[in-house]
Amino acid sequence: MELVVLSGKGGTGKTTIATALSELAKEVVRVDCDVEASNFYMYYDGKDLEKEDFYGGKKADIKKDKCIQCGKCEEVCRFNAIDHFQINAFACEGCGACTLVCPQNAIILKDEKVANTFITKTDKGIIAKAEMEIGSDASGLLISFLRKKAEKFSKNELVTIIDGSPGIGCPVIASITGSNAVLVVTEPTKSGLEDLKRVITLCEHFQIFTMVCINKYDINGEVTKEIEDFVDQKELKLVGKIPYDDVVMKSINELKPITFYKDSIAKKAITEMWKTIQKFIFT
Ligand code: SF4
Ligand code: SF4
Repeated sequence: MELVVLSGKGGTGKTTIATALSELAKEVVRVDCDVEASNFYMYYDGKDLEKEDFYGGKKADIKKDKCIQCGKCEEVCRFNAIDHFQINAFACEGCGACTLVCPQNAIILKDEKVANTFITKTDKGIIAKAEMEIGSDASGLLISFLRKKAEKFSKNELVTIIDGSPGIGCPVIASITGSNAVLVVTEPTKSGLEDLKRVITLCEHFQIFTMVCINKYDINGEVTKEIEDFVDQKELKLVGKIPYDDVVMKSINELKPITFYKDSIAKKAITEMWKTIQKFIFT
């Protein structure tokens, strides 16, 4: 059972909720797919069982000894990635156009290392994560690679909880493809509602069972009502309304899951939400 926690954008409390759910689930494998702003893994110390380089693209490389400085490659590059017969690796998109026009066959495309990936054993179970190389972008391929790596450890566990990337791009699509259920975390702001609508459209397209949780629902009753109406209209499951709670910020600062704080009102609401989620995903 793979449950993906998503949000339309960063800063909605997605990781706080993913972390709390993974604590409540107990028999769990965690996958940190929010690779560009990775922090799910920060809540856990452990020992790396596997470390593997991930190569996710190509970069052009000019062999200086073959180059006759004709300038054809610079002319053809639509990304302005070549200047004075030098490749700017940050700008190169690996399209290969320059290799086609070079009269000397002086340009080759080399595999580009995009990230280090890790499988880490913690006292709370396995977590899969990636550390991006500077200037590299998250890709659907990297997310699929991480999920695949985590898969072999998930056989005996009840659930895999994936902290997905924010937004609706390729990494998100790779996070949800083939998963069993999605929990979308939203917040009661106008932009939060628009972001929610976009994510829901994506989930509908992939026909994935989708639940919604409104974080900090009590900071704006009017928009919370609009979100509830939208969820009703879409016949989705509103599984939780989490109140604003100062303890959440304390938990982030101390890098402890919110479930650690017994009197937290957010923790209580998330615990109730987990009971509801279980009813939907395990029956
Ligand atoms: S591979 Fe494409 S983007 Fe990179 S330098 Fe060549 S033409 Fe430019
Ligand atoms: S097209 Fe080839 S030979 Fe011409 S400048 Fe570029 S690398 Fe050098």
